[in-house]
Amino acid sequence: MTETTDPYGTDPAVTFAELYGSEPDGIWAAPGRVNLIGEYTDFNDGFVMPLALPHTARAAVSRRDDGVLRLYSADVPGGVVSLRVDELAPHAGHGWAAYPAGVLWALREAGHPVTGADIALTSTVPTGAGLSSSAALEVVTAQALNDLFHLGLTGPELAVVGRRAENDFVGVPCGIMDQMASACCVEGHALHLDTRDLSLRQVPFDLAARGLALLVVDTRVKHALGDGAYAERRAGCEDGARLLGIPMLRDLRHENLATALTTLADAGADESVIRYVRHVVSDNHRVERVIALLDAGDVRAAGPVLNDGHRSLRDDLRVSCPELDLVVEAANEAGALGARMTGGGFGGSAVVLVEEAAAGTVAKAVSEAFAAAGHAAPGIFDAIPSAGARRLR
Ligand code: ADP
Ligand code: MG
Repeated sequence: MTETTDPYGTDPAVTFAELYGSEPDGIWAAPGRVNLIGEYTDFNDGFVMPLALPHTARAAVSRRDDGVLRLYSADVPGGVVSLRVDELAPHAGHGWAAYPAGVLWALREAGHPVTGADIALTSTVPTGAGLSSSAALEVVTAQALNDLFHLGLTGPELAVVGRRAENDFVGVPCGIMDQMASACCVEGHALHLDTRDLSLRQVPFDLAARGLALLVVDTRVKHALGDGAYAERRAGCEDGARLLGIPMLRDLRHENLATALTTLADAGADESVIRYVRHVVSDNHRVERVIALLDAGDVRAAGPVLNDGHRSLRDDLRVSCPELDLVVEAANEAGALGARMTGGGFGGSAVVLVEEAAAGTVAKAVSEAFAAAGHAAPGIFDAIPSAGARRLR
Protein backbone atom coordinates (compact mmCIF):
# COMPACT_ATOMS: atom_id res chain seq x y z
CA MET A 1 0.00 0.00 0.00
CA THR A 2 1.29 3.47 -0.79
CA GLU A 3 2.16 6.00 1.88
CA THR A 4 -0.75 8.29 2.73
CA THR A 5 0.32 11.84 2.16
CA ASP A 6 -1.17 14.76 3.99
CA PRO A 7 -2.47 16.94 1.17
CA TYR A 8 -2.65 19.94 3.46
CA GLY A 9 0.78 19.74 5.06
CA THR A 10 3.97 21.73 4.91
CA ASP A 11 7.47 20.50 5.65
CA PRO A 12 8.63 21.17 9.24
CA ALA A 13 12.26 20.49 8.30
CA VAL A 14 12.57 23.96 6.77
CA THR A 15 11.42 25.63 9.98
CA PHE A 16 13.64 23.32 12.03
CA ALA A 17 16.79 24.35 10.15
CA GLU A 18 15.92 28.03 10.46
CA LEU A 19 15.27 27.77 14.19
CA TYR A 20 17.98 25.42 15.36
CA GLY A 21 20.67 25.90 12.71
CA SER A 22 20.98 22.28 11.56
CA GLU A 23 19.05 19.61 9.71
CA PRO A 24 16.76 17.44 11.88
CA ASP A 25 17.60 13.78 12.53
CA GLY A 26 14.24 12.87 11.02
CA ILE A 27 10.62 13.79 10.27
CA TRP A 28 7.59 12.00 11.73
CA ALA A 29 3.85 12.25 11.17
CA ALA A 30 0.85 11.25 13.29
CA PRO A 31 -2.77 11.77 12.26
CA GLY A 32 -5.87 13.20 13.83
CA ARG A 33 -8.80 10.81 14.00
CA VAL A 34 -12.52 10.70 13.68
CA ASN A 35 -14.63 8.19 15.53
CA LEU A 36 -17.11 6.29 13.36
CA ILE A 37 -19.12 4.80 16.24
CA GLY A 38 -18.76 4.12 19.98
CA GLU A 39 -18.91 7.43 21.85
CA TYR A 40 -18.33 7.95 25.59
CA THR A 41 -17.66 4.22 25.75
CA ASP A 42 -13.90 4.35 26.25
CA PHE A 43 -13.98 5.25 29.94
CA ASN A 44 -16.40 2.36 30.45
CA ASP A 45 -13.90 -0.22 29.17
CA GLY A 46 -16.02 -0.41 26.00
CA PHE A 47 -15.53 -0.51 22.25
CA VAL A 48 -14.71 2.34 19.88
CA MET A 49 -14.13 2.46 16.15
CA PRO A 50 -12.02 5.39 14.99
CA LEU A 51 -10.19 5.91 11.72
CA ALA A 52 -7.16 8.08 11.09
CA LEU A 53 -7.56 11.24 9.02
CA PRO A 54 -5.29 12.42 6.21
CA HIS A 55 -4.61 15.46 8.43
CA THR A 56 -1.42 15.06 10.45
CA ALA A 57 0.81 16.62 13.05
CA ARG A 58 4.36 16.59 11.73
CA ALA A 59 7.52 16.86 13.75
CA ALA A 60 11.09 17.52 12.70
CA VAL A 61 13.20 16.25 15.58
CA SER A 62 16.82 15.91 16.64
CA ARG A 63 17.97 14.04 19.68
CA ARG A 64 19.87 15.90 22.43
CA ASP A 65 21.91 14.39 25.24
CA ASP A 66 22.36 17.50 27.41
CA GLY A 67 19.00 17.59 29.24
CA VAL A 68 17.53 20.38 27.12
CA LEU A 69 14.14 20.21 25.43
CA ARG A 70 13.32 22.87 22.84
CA LEU A 71 9.83 23.01 21.36
CA TYR A 72 8.37 25.07 18.58
CA SER A 73 4.99 25.03 16.83
CA ALA A 74 4.59 26.86 13.54
CA ASP A 75 0.87 27.10 14.30
CA VAL A 76 0.90 29.15 17.50
CA PRO A 77 2.60 32.45 18.34
CA GLY A 78 5.33 32.64 20.97
CA GLY A 79 8.47 31.17 19.44
CA VAL A 80 10.69 28.47 20.92
CA VAL A 81 9.91 27.10 24.40
CA SER A 82 13.07 25.92 26.14
CA LEU A 83 12.83 23.54 29.11
CA ARG A 84 15.12 21.30 31.21
CA VAL A 85 14.02 17.68 31.14
CA ASP A 86 14.94 17.07 34.79
CA GLU A 87 12.74 19.99 35.85
CA LEU A 88 9.60 18.89 34.02
CA ALA A 89 6.69 18.71 36.45
CA PRO A 90 2.94 18.08 35.93
CA HIS A 91 0.46 20.96 35.84
CA ALA A 92 3.22 23.55 35.50
CA GLY A 93 1.55 25.41 32.64
CA HIS A 94 3.63 25.71 29.44
CA GLY A 95 0.44 26.14 27.31
CA TRP A 96 0.47 24.07 24.13
CA ALA A 97 4.06 22.94 24.83
CA ALA A 98 2.77 20.85 27.75
CA TYR A 99 1.55 18.21 25.26
CA PRO A 100 4.95 17.31 23.75
CA ALA A 101 6.81 18.09 26.99
CA GLY A 102 4.39 15.78 28.82
CA VAL A 103 5.30 12.97 26.45
CA LEU A 104 8.98 13.32 27.28
CA TRP A 105 8.06 13.47 30.98
CA ALA A 106 5.86 10.35 30.71
CA LEU A 107 8.63 8.43 28.95
CA ARG A 108 11.09 9.37 31.69
CA GLU A 109 8.51 8.48 34.38
CA ALA A 110 8.27 5.04 32.77
CA GLY A 111 12.04 4.69 33.13
CA HIS A 112 13.11 5.44 29.57
CA PRO A 113 16.38 7.35 29.26
CA VAL A 114 15.23 10.26 27.10
CA THR A 115 17.76 13.04 27.53
CA GLY A 116 16.38 15.91 25.46
CA ALA A 117 15.37 16.95 21.97
CA ASP A 118 14.91 19.81 19.55
CA ILE A 119 11.42 19.66 18.07
CA ALA A 120 9.66 21.75 15.40
CA LEU A 121 5.98 20.95 14.91
CA THR A 122 3.28 21.84 12.48
CA SER A 123 -0.17 20.34 12.17
CA THR A 124 -3.10 20.34 9.78
CA VAL A 125 -5.45 18.70 12.28
CA PRO A 126 -8.10 21.32 13.13
CA THR A 127 -7.78 22.12 16.87
CA GLY A 128 -10.69 21.79 19.26
CA ALA A 129 -12.90 20.27 16.53
CA GLY A 130 -13.12 16.86 18.19
CA LEU A 131 -10.56 15.48 15.73
CA SER A 132 -7.77 14.93 18.27
CA SER A 133 -5.18 17.49 17.38
CA SER A 134 -3.82 16.96 20.91
CA ALA A 135 -3.33 13.21 20.46
CA ALA A 136 -1.66 13.79 17.09
CA LEU A 137 0.83 16.09 18.82
CA GLU A 138 1.48 13.58 21.60
CA VAL A 139 1.82 10.56 19.36
CA VAL A 140 4.10 12.22 16.81
CA THR A 141 6.39 13.26 19.68
CA ALA A 142 6.29 9.80 21.26
CA GLN A 143 7.01 8.09 17.94
CA ALA A 144 9.98 10.37 17.19
CA LEU A 145 11.52 9.92 20.65
CA ASN A 146 10.90 6.17 20.47
CA ASP A 147 12.90 5.97 17.25
CA LEU A 148 15.67 8.41 18.18
CA PHE A 149 16.30 6.83 21.60
CA HIS A 150 15.77 3.25 20.35
CA LEU A 151 13.11 2.56 22.99
CA GLY A 152 11.45 -0.23 21.03
CA LEU A 153 7.93 0.66 22.21
CA THR A 154 4.90 -0.64 20.28
CA GLY A 155 2.05 1.52 18.95
CA PRO A 156 -0.23 0.76 21.93
CA GLU A 157 2.65 1.47 24.33
CA LEU A 158 3.25 4.85 22.68
CA ALA A 159 -0.49 5.56 22.94
CA VAL A 160 -0.39 4.86 26.68
CA VAL A 161 2.53 7.30 27.04
CA GLY A 162 0.57 9.96 25.13
CA ARG A 163 -2.48 9.47 27.30
CA ARG A 164 -0.41 9.66 30.47
CA ALA A 165 1.01 12.97 29.21
CA GLU A 166 -2.47 14.36 28.57
CA ASN A 167 -4.06 13.03 31.80
CA ASP A 168 -1.27 13.56 34.29
CA PHE A 169 0.97 16.28 32.85
CA VAL A 170 -1.41 18.55 30.93
CA GLY A 171 -4.29 17.61 33.23
CA VAL A 172 -7.00 16.68 30.71
CA PRO A 173 -9.06 13.59 31.61
CA CYS A 174 -9.36 11.77 28.27
CA GLY A 175 -9.74 8.07 27.44
CA ILE A 176 -7.27 6.03 25.38
CA MET A 177 -9.10 6.10 22.04
CA ASP A 178 -7.49 9.19 20.52
CA GLN A 179 -3.89 8.16 21.09
CA MET A 180 -4.56 4.56 20.04
CA ALA A 181 -6.12 5.75 16.79
CA SER A 182 -3.26 8.10 16.02
CA ALA A 183 -0.64 5.47 16.85
CA CYS A 184 -2.22 2.30 15.43
CA CYS A 185 -4.58 3.03 12.53
CA VAL A 186 -3.91 1.52 9.11
CA GLU A 187 -4.78 3.06 5.75
CA GLY A 188 -8.10 1.85 4.30
CA HIS A 189 -9.27 0.53 7.67
CA ALA A 190 -11.19 1.50 10.77
CA LEU A 191 -9.78 0.40 14.11
CA HIS A 192 -11.92 -1.83 16.30
CA LEU A 193 -10.48 -1.15 19.70
CA ASP A 194 -11.38 -2.86 22.94
CA THR A 195 -10.45 -0.21 25.50
CA ARG A 196 -10.42 -2.80 28.31
CA ASP A 197 -7.27 -4.60 27.21
CA LEU A 198 -6.27 -2.47 24.18
CA SER A 199 -6.70 -5.45 21.88
CA LEU A 200 -7.46 -4.27 18.39
CA ARG A 201 -8.46 -5.36 14.96
CA GLN A 202 -8.09 -3.52 11.65
CA VAL A 203 -11.50 -3.65 9.96
CA PRO A 204 -11.41 -3.06 6.18
CA PHE A 205 -13.15 0.26 5.46
CA ASP A 206 -12.22 1.11 1.91
CA LEU A 207 -14.99 3.57 1.20
CA ALA A 208 -13.85 4.70 -2.24
CA ALA A 209 -13.79 1.12 -3.53
CA ARG A 210 -17.48 0.85 -2.60
CA GLY A 211 -18.47 4.19 -4.10
CA LEU A 212 -18.93 5.72 -0.65
CA ALA A 213 -17.52 8.64 1.27
CA LEU A 214 -17.42 9.66 4.91
CA LEU A 215 -17.69 13.42 5.31
CA VAL A 216 -16.49 15.20 8.40
CA VAL A 217 -18.44 18.36 9.15
CA ASP A 218 -16.64 20.64 11.59
CA THR A 219 -19.32 22.92 13.04
CA ARG A 220 -16.58 25.30 14.21
CA VAL A 221 -18.46 25.85 17.44
CA LYS A 222 -17.44 24.87 20.94
CA HIS A 223 -20.07 25.45 23.62
CA ALA A 224 -18.68 26.13 27.10
CA LEU A 225 -21.18 23.65 28.54
CA GLY A 226 -18.86 20.83 27.45
CA ASP A 227 -16.24 21.50 30.12
CA GLY A 228 -17.99 19.99 33.12
CA ALA A 229 -20.14 17.59 31.12
CA TYR A 230 -17.46 14.97 30.51
CA ALA A 231 -16.70 14.57 34.22
CA GLU A 232 -20.41 14.51 35.04
CA ARG A 233 -21.17 11.78 32.45
CA ARG A 234 -18.18 9.81 33.63
CA ALA A 235 -19.26 9.97 37.28
CA GLY A 236 -22.81 9.01 36.26
CA CYS A 237 -21.55 5.94 34.41
CA GLU A 238 -19.49 4.91 37.45
CA ASP A 239 -22.58 5.30 39.65
CA GLY A 240 -24.56 3.13 37.24
CA ALA A 241 -21.97 0.36 37.28
CA ARG A 242 -21.73 0.48 41.06
CA LEU A 243 -25.51 0.25 41.50
CA LEU A 244 -25.57 -2.71 39.11
CA GLY A 245 -22.72 -4.40 40.96
CA ILE A 246 -20.47 -4.68 37.90
CA PRO A 247 -16.91 -3.38 37.49
CA MET A 248 -17.68 -1.27 34.40
CA LEU A 249 -20.68 -0.68 32.10
CA ARG A 250 -18.80 -2.74 29.53
CA ASP A 251 -19.73 -5.75 31.64
CA LEU A 252 -23.45 -5.29 30.93
CA ARG A 253 -24.50 -7.13 27.77
CA HIS A 254 -27.01 -5.42 25.52
CA GLU A 255 -29.52 -8.27 25.86
CA ASN A 256 -29.61 -7.59 29.62
CA LEU A 257 -30.05 -3.83 29.26
CA ALA A 258 -33.83 -3.66 29.78
CA THR A 259 -33.64 -5.68 33.01
CA ALA A 260 -30.71 -3.60 34.24
CA LEU A 261 -32.59 -0.34 33.65
CA THR A 262 -35.48 -1.65 35.76
CA THR A 263 -33.00 -2.65 38.48
CA LEU A 264 -31.56 0.87 38.42
CA ALA A 265 -34.99 2.49 38.64
CA ASP A 266 -35.92 0.21 41.57
CA ALA A 267 -32.65 1.10 43.30
CA GLY A 268 -33.61 4.79 43.06
CA ALA A 269 -30.91 5.69 40.54
CA ASP A 270 -30.90 9.20 39.19
CA GLU A 271 -32.88 9.57 35.98
CA SER A 272 -29.69 10.82 34.28
CA VAL A 273 -27.77 7.69 35.35
CA ILE A 274 -30.41 5.52 33.71
CA ARG A 275 -30.05 7.48 30.45
CA TYR A 276 -26.23 7.31 30.54
CA VAL A 277 -26.29 3.55 31.08
CA ARG A 278 -28.71 3.13 28.17
CA HIS A 279 -26.44 5.17 25.92
CA VAL A 280 -23.20 3.43 26.80
CA VAL A 281 -24.55 -0.10 26.57
CA SER A 282 -26.45 0.55 23.34
CA ASP A 283 -23.51 2.37 21.72
CA ASN A 284 -21.19 -0.49 22.61
CA HIS A 285 -23.68 -2.74 20.86
CA ARG A 286 -23.79 -0.40 17.86
CA VAL A 287 -20.02 -0.80 17.46
CA GLU A 288 -20.52 -4.56 17.24
CA ARG A 289 -23.34 -4.10 14.71
CA VAL A 290 -21.27 -1.82 12.49
CA ILE A 291 -18.35 -4.24 12.57
CA ALA A 292 -20.61 -7.12 11.56
CA LEU A 293 -21.95 -5.03 8.66
CA LEU A 294 -18.46 -3.98 7.51
CA ASP A 295 -17.22 -7.56 7.69
CA ALA A 296 -20.23 -8.64 5.62
CA GLY A 297 -19.42 -5.96 3.03
CA ASP A 298 -22.71 -4.18 3.74
CA VAL A 299 -21.26 -0.75 4.56
CA ARG A 300 -24.39 1.14 3.45
CA ALA A 301 -26.44 -0.56 6.16
CA ALA A 302 -24.22 1.13 8.77
CA GLY A 303 -25.95 4.45 7.94
CA PRO A 304 -29.08 3.87 10.07
CA VAL A 305 -26.87 2.68 12.94
CA LEU A 306 -25.06 6.03 12.84
CA ASN A 307 -28.43 7.79 13.01
CA ASP A 308 -29.42 5.68 16.04
CA GLY A 309 -26.12 6.58 17.66
CA HIS A 310 -26.81 10.26 17.16
CA ARG A 311 -30.26 10.04 18.72
CA SER A 312 -28.77 8.25 21.72
CA LEU A 313 -26.09 10.94 22.17
CA ARG A 314 -28.69 13.68 21.76
CA ASP A 315 -31.51 12.29 23.90
CA ASP A 316 -29.87 9.96 26.43
CA LEU A 317 -26.36 11.29 26.96
CA ARG A 318 -27.43 14.85 26.03
CA VAL A 319 -24.08 15.96 24.65
CA SER A 320 -25.25 17.22 21.25
CA CYS A 321 -26.10 20.81 20.35
CA PRO A 322 -28.28 22.58 17.75
CA GLU A 323 -25.45 22.83 15.20
CA LEU A 324 -24.65 19.08 15.38
CA ASP A 325 -28.35 18.17 15.21
CA LEU A 326 -28.67 20.40 12.16
CA VAL A 327 -25.81 18.61 10.36
CA VAL A 328 -27.47 15.25 10.93
CA GLU A 329 -30.92 16.47 9.93
CA ALA A 330 -29.82 18.39 6.83
CA ALA A 331 -27.51 15.59 5.65
CA ASN A 332 -30.23 12.97 5.98
CA GLU A 333 -32.78 15.17 4.24
CA ALA A 334 -30.33 15.59 1.36
CA GLY A 335 -29.98 11.83 0.96
CA ALA A 336 -27.11 10.81 3.23
CA LEU A 337 -27.03 7.17 4.34
CA GLY A 338 -26.62 8.22 7.98
CA ALA A 339 -24.89 10.72 10.24
CA ARG A 340 -23.94 11.33 13.84
CA MET A 341 -22.05 13.74 16.02
CA THR A 342 -18.58 12.43 16.86
CA GLY A 343 -16.21 13.16 19.73
CA GLY A 344 -17.17 14.86 22.96
CA GLY A 345 -20.06 16.91 21.55
CA PHE A 346 -21.33 20.41 22.47
CA GLY A 347 -19.86 21.47 19.13
CA GLY A 348 -16.95 19.94 17.29
CA SER A 349 -17.64 17.62 14.38
CA ALA A 350 -20.14 15.20 12.88
CA VAL A 351 -19.60 12.33 10.44
CA VAL A 352 -21.85 11.74 7.44
CA LEU A 353 -21.87 8.51 5.43
CA VAL A 354 -22.84 9.23 1.81
CA GLU A 355 -22.77 7.77 -1.67
CA GLU A 356 -19.66 9.28 -3.22
CA ALA A 357 -21.79 10.62 -6.07
CA ALA A 358 -24.03 12.46 -3.61
CA ALA A 359 -21.24 13.88 -1.43
CA GLY A 360 -21.26 17.29 -3.13
CA THR A 361 -25.04 17.65 -2.89
CA VAL A 362 -25.09 16.64 0.77
CA ALA A 363 -22.20 18.97 1.66
CA LYS A 364 -23.96 21.83 -0.10
CA ALA A 365 -27.22 21.12 1.69
CA VAL A 366 -25.49 21.17 5.08
CA SER A 367 -23.72 24.45 4.27
CA GLU A 368 -26.99 26.00 3.11
CA ALA A 369 -28.80 24.84 6.24
CA PHE A 370 -26.08 26.48 8.35
CA ALA A 371 -26.38 29.73 6.40
CA ALA A 372 -30.18 29.68 6.72
CA ALA A 373 -29.90 29.17 10.49
CA GLY A 374 -27.45 32.06 10.79
CA HIS A 375 -24.47 29.84 11.75
CA ALA A 376 -20.94 30.43 10.44
CA ALA A 377 -19.96 28.19 7.50
CA PRO A 378 -18.90 24.69 8.62
CA GLY A 379 -15.65 23.05 7.49
CA ILE A 380 -16.39 19.95 5.40
CA PHE A 381 -13.86 17.40 4.18
CA ASP A 382 -13.55 13.79 3.13
CA ALA A 383 -12.36 11.44 5.89
CA ILE A 384 -10.24 9.11 3.80
CA PRO A 385 -9.16 6.30 6.17
CA SER A 386 -5.44 6.99 6.52
CA ALA A 387 -2.30 5.65 8.15
CA GLY A 388 -1.30 5.96 11.80
CA ALA A 389 1.99 7.37 13.13
CA ARG A 390 5.04 6.84 10.94
CA ARG A 391 8.50 8.12 10.16
CA LEU A 392 8.55 10.09 6.93
CA ARG A 393 12.32 10.39 6.56
P1 ADP B 1 -8.66 18.38 20.07
O1 ADP B 1 -7.68 17.36 20.50
O2 ADP B 1 -10.05 17.85 19.97
O3 ADP B 1 -8.27 19.10 18.82
P2 ADP B 1 -7.91 19.54 22.56
O4 ADP B 1 -8.47 20.66 23.36
O5 ADP B 1 -7.81 18.21 23.18
O6 ADP B 1 -8.74 19.49 21.19
O7 ADP B 1 -6.44 19.92 22.09
C1 ADP B 1 -6.19 21.15 21.47
C2 ADP B 1 -4.91 21.74 22.04
O8 ADP B 1 -3.78 20.98 21.55
C3 ADP B 1 -4.65 23.16 21.59
O9 ADP B 1 -5.31 24.07 22.43
C4 ADP B 1 -3.14 23.25 21.72
O10 ADP B 1 -2.76 23.46 23.05
C5 ADP B 1 -2.69 21.85 21.32
N1 ADP B 1 -2.37 21.81 19.87
C6 ADP B 1 -3.02 21.13 18.91
N2 ADP B 1 -2.44 21.32 17.70
C7 ADP B 1 -1.39 22.16 17.92
C8 ADP B 1 -0.39 22.75 17.07
N3 ADP B 1 -0.37 22.53 15.77
N4 ADP B 1 0.53 23.53 17.65
C9 ADP B 1 0.50 23.77 18.98
N5 ADP B 1 -0.41 23.27 19.81
C10 ADP B 1 -1.35 22.46 19.30
MG1 MG C 1 -7.81 16.29 22.33
